[in-house]
Amino acid sequence: MGTTLRIGVAAQDRAGGIAAIESAFNAVRKIDGLLSTWRDDSEIAQLNRAPVGAPVRLSGELHALLREAAHWSRATGGAFDPAVGALVDAWDLRGAGRIPSADQLAAASVATGLGRFALSDTGVTAVRLDAAAWLDTGGFGKGVALREAARALRGAGIESAILNFGGQVLALGSGAGDEVIVPVAHPLRRSEAVLRLRLQGRSASTSSQSERTLTVGGRRVGHILDPRSGEPVPPWGSVTVVARDPAVADMLSTALLVLGPEAGARWAERRSDVGVLFLLQRDGRVLPRWNRAMEAFLVTETTISRRG
Ligand code: AMP
Ligand code: MG
Repeated sequence: MGTTLRIGVAAQDRAGGIAAIESAFNAVRKIDGLLSTWRDDSEIAQLNRAPVGAPVRLSGELHALLREAAHWSRATGGAFDPAVGALVDAWDLRGAGRIPSADQLAAASVATGLGRFALSDTGVTAVRLDAAAWLDTGGFGKGVALREAARALRGAGIESAILNFGGQVLALGSGAGDEVIVPVAHPLRRSEAVLRLRLQGRSASTSSQSERTLTVGGRRVGHILDPRSGEPVPPWGSVTVVARDPAVADMLSTALLVLGPEAGARWAERRSDVGVLFLLQRDGRVLPRWNRAMEAFLVTETTISRRG
């Protein structure tokens, strides 16, 4: 998945801890084999190049993951949508970057959206409906992998662990010593912590448009696309989501970055199950805003007040 996974566990003995960590890495390898779009032999890569109109048999696991992604796509009004592959191509986000023409953008928009894939409700098949459509799992693969790694650790008898997958942290455990303090970086200066979160039995995922940007003709083009407009999301700040399920945290941080601070805040205020923190870049300053559910996780050694 193009990033680093670090796992630390509390175990009875060293050998048992190492064996548990190995089983977690094996679980992540399995998810990579299902979801990676950076290799040709993953299951998703096979679906992504399947002939248009031909049903592809999926593993039950991939089928369930795609249905889960579709659920969160609907729940976020289409802001989260892994079927943005055609737009990724139009903007050449995996190459040097490109500003597409109006025609190219229109064509890519038609080929965008989970509606370009027919996922059966009963069987485990999917049909690709457009030759330019493909599923980009970059917005949720890491979260799914963390969830499976945690399952493997628990299966190996581990009750307390910290996992960090390219910045998305999962703190496992319910004991007194299992709290993990996680800094939330400044959206532009990533080595600078703006706030800190206290996590226990939860995962924190941050999405920002200032992370990986290409500069094309003087314009900065980020890696997160608004499937509704076809445009890259403007670099307005970052979103951090805290949830029990790391896959949900991953999907929602991407989705809420697309929704933006206003619509995103309205969405977040209705949810008591996920903590949401927005860091808005305004005139060289950073304005933090969060929903009520986030209050339980904020380390308030500073004098920040809740806004909006
Ligand atoms: P994250 O860093 O988790 O926010 O995921 C960003 C990645 O998700 C991008 O690099 C793309 O691979 C993919 N992506 C881009 N736009 C979207 C979107 N609107 N919905 C779902 N995934 C997206
Ligand atoms: Mg994500």
